Amino acid sequence: MTATKSVFSVCGMCTVRCPIQVDVQDGKAVRVQGNEFSPLKKGLCARGAAGIALEQDPEKPQTPLIRVGERGEGKWRAVSWDEALDYVADKLKGIMAEHGPRSVLWSDRGGPFPDLHQAFMRGIGSPNYCNHDASCARNVQHGAQSVIGVGRKMVAYDLRNAKHIILQTRNIMEAINVAEVNAALDGIAGGAKLTVIDIRGNVSASKADNFFLIRPGTDYGFNLGVIHALIYEGLYNKEYVEQFVDGFEQLKEFVKPYTPEWAAAETGASAEAIVDLARQLSAAAPSVVWHPGWMVARYNDSFQVCRTAYIINALLGSIGAKGGLPFVNAAKEVGRKGLKKLADLFPKPEEKRADGVGWKYPQFDGGPGLVNLAYDAIVTGEPYPVKAYLCFRHDPLMAMPDPEALKKKWAGLDLLVSITFSWSDTAWNSDVVLPLSTYLARESIIAGKSGLKPQFFVRHRAQEPTFDSKADWEIICGLAKRLGLDPLAFETIEDLWNYQLQETGVSIEDFKAKGFVELADKPLYRPMSEIKLPTPSGKIEMLSGKWAKAGHDTLPPYVSPARPPQGMFRIAFGRVGVHTQGHTVNNPLLAEQMPENVAWIHTSRAAEMGIADGDLVEVFSVRGESGRIRAFVTDCVHPEALFMVHGFGHKLPVESRAIGKGAADHELMPGGLESWDKGGGCLSMQEHFVGVRKI
Ligand code: SF4
Repeated sequence: MTATKSVFSVCGMCTVRCPIQVDVQDGKAVRVQGNEFSPLKKGLCARGAAGIALEQDPEKPQTPLIRVGERGEGKWRAVSWDEALDYVADKLKGIMAEHGPRSVLWSDRGGPFPDLHQAFMRGIGSPNYCNHDASCARNVQHGAQSVIGVGRKMVAYDLRNAKHIILQTRNIMEAINVAEVNAALDGIAGGAKLTVIDIRGNVSASKADNFFLIRPGTDYGFNLGVIHALIYEGLYNKEYVEQFVDGFEQLKEFVKPYTPEWAAAETGASAEAIVDLARQLSAAAPSVVWHPGWMVARYNDSFQVCRTAYIINALLGSIGAKGGLPFVNAAKEVGRKGLKKLADLFPKPEEKRADGVGWKYPQFDGGPGLVNLAYDAIVTGEPYPVKAYLCFRHDPLMAMPDPEALKKKWAGLDLLVSITFSWSDTAWNSDVVLPLSTYLARESIIAGKSGLKPQFFVRHRAQEPTFDSKADWEIICGLAKRLGLDPLAFETIEDLWNYQLQETGVSIEDFKAKGFVELADKPLYRPMSEIKLPTPSGKIEMLSGKWAKAGHDTLPPYVSPARPPQGMFRIAFGRVGVHTQGHTVNNPLLAEQMPENVAWIHTSRAAEMGIADGDLVEVFSVRGESGRIRAFVTDCVHPEALFMVHGFGHKLPVESRAIGKGAADHELMPGGLESWDKGGGCLSMQEHFVGVRKI
């Protein structure tokens, strides 16, 4: 037995990418914990710690596979890496020769490492780089851009220094980001109040000082009531608004009818409690974080929910404030040079995007686009045909509504490749599966992280892969070599890292001490007066000039959400601390922690239907799709909602621990791919009704 060594790395069990350190003995990872030099304080969530079980699990793709049966039939030919990469490269060459490079689509799960993916897409000449965000956070991103002119990650949530934290469309204690949880708990321990607004009593709500259980789909109305109280009770920060806000008078006029009494009738909260909340916020301002949300692909007006969260923060003077939403710093703000971008190895393609972002939808952020709209080009050939699709760690068949409709759209693809470290519905329906090494067995490119203290960080390989998998850089550089993209055909990870670090004054040796390199000695809070906002007015905009130019009203009248038809429920979904959507449900350790999901049904509704706690029920969509699931009968969910944790109801025969456990919410959303928020771009996944019957 050799002595234990410790390797600094980065978790990959969810998109947060926490800094970790891995104990390695005899060439195998034996323990994972949070990086002791980071705000994780050695802590980690259950999923991150379950990476060793993932690494050793034989129930994942073990070698490259090429489909031999029909798509989804599960018939494969195991091939060598050379054969797999030759096959994909030859197919891409043929498709690009016939339809042009623009016919190639890529999607991933975003995060800090896409520079390599974007470089690959630029190299082949396609503008169609996308990520998963149309089914996640695009509404927040666009909400931020429409109010403050920059993306959501350009401001931090200063939870540790906050005096009041408001969680709405953000369940911080279950949809976990370890550093954020630690910061929120430190803030609460230091006296911060916590307010939770949700359709169910989640774990975050169990720690709240104020909890509002509101009617599903009424968050925009709730926020308008709060804005009304802040303005008409004189509780907002007048000096800040005068100096930094544009469009305040229009906002004041707009919210006039949306009184707290009106909001109470709409949401089910009491008017007194809404006014009291506004007073509490005013007393804590500017050290208030009204979280604008994370996974917000929910309602037709979720974009407005995100926007009004930013607006409330602005009225309280929290944007740019310590304890609020201070602006983060990139390397250049602290006098340092940033990483050299791999995407800059190639010119930006001049073609317009297949999803319409940037031309048909000029208000949207062109970075990761809207992948659901790019799928339409496969079917219609407009604005041009999309024929090849590479899915990197992304499972759209589980992440998006109506998977059968999506499979039909993909039928027009000549090539569908899944690069993945676990089985997924998308991998099962692909033409080629390229097994990605787990985060314990691969390196990644260096990433830059903006923050109050910006840093560079890197993922090191803690052990060699247990099965025949490869790192993302090995797969992409291997394809680049075969496609003649010589600048991206790096032979070693060191060559790649050295390219990125040119001119930064940092060497790869500098990451040895802590696993990351801080670019500043202490947090830098830049005062609002020093911030140049790239909005058309140069100020925080209550009405977005950019969206107005695209013909979109950013203070639209509130539309009351439809109530479910008699005997039905509005479907709602969310997260739990021990799983990351569908891709951890078959993990040996995490499956033990939570093997199946349950359907939360209000006690009064369950009684009407003769359903008792623990009964097996069938939940069915209006089109007839159904799933079997146990009922969880509780007072802690709104009577109009039926809630379940997302990611269950697996059907793949290769996942023995997950198959047949619980129900899949996304399969109960017929036509859901066509239902999206035109303001913010996200799919509206909670605009569906379901019925329930006892089995
Ligand atoms: S939150 Fe958990 S799963 Fe996600 S990166 Fe951090 S440790 Fe890993």
